[in-house]
Amino acid sequence: MRETEEQFAILERIPYRDADLLLSVLGEHIGKELLTVRSGRKIPNRWKSSFLEGSILLGRIMKVKNHHVLTGVIAEKYVPYEQQYSPFMFLALEIFSKIPSLDRSSFNLLEKFLTSEHRAKDFDQLLVSFMINESLQPSLNSCVVCGEKREQFPISASVFLGGYVCSRCGSGDIELNQADYESLLRTYRKVGELTENMRSYWLDILESQLSTKFLSREGLK
Ligand SMILES: [Zn+2]
Repeated sequence: MRETEEQFAILERIPYRDADLLLSVLGEHIGKELLTVRSGRKIPNRWKSSFLEGSILLGRIMKVKNHHVLTGVIAEKYVPYEQQYSPFMFLALEIFSKIPSLDRSSFNLLEKFLTSEHRAKDFDQLLVSFMINESLQPSLNSCVVCGEKREQFPISASVFLGGYVCSRCGSGDIELNQADYESLLRTYRKVGELTENMRSYWLDILESQLSTKFLSREGLK
């Protein structure tokens, strides 16, 4: 059996049997997985994180049949201290927990967010980058009305229709020069959208895509 080193963020801790701990993690190479920590609930507080949600650890992982077992912690890359526990962090972790499968590029997005100050702006950046990465929204590669492929940027897009609108189907309310967070934010602001509205809009879309409700959204109010 082979042991590998892996950097991972803890999304959720799930008490398991008497002493074991099951961690839902997002790893740099393994993507989203469940990790078993034998005696994880009894391990003395040697590690500051104590396997808390939102921590990023470098560990040794062994694959036993279809299970991943954490056999050791090499280093704690990031531990959120109490004052850093923010509603935005809980919401980000809940979103990543509820998404069925995630690849390694999502790890970098989450890592960047967790090690930031978890401000509204950091969260919005995470959310929008994630949606673009996963091609969830906005639909920028083909017209949301007729499905015709986009030729090139700049394009006309509609905040409310959810993406690119080709010239035959009318015109959107914003112009986009490229598909990254900064340009999206700039264009949305240009039409007078507030960041909070934009955030709610993206969260609504994600909830409907996943057919779920994010309970942590309550914390933002
Ligand atoms: Zn069209």
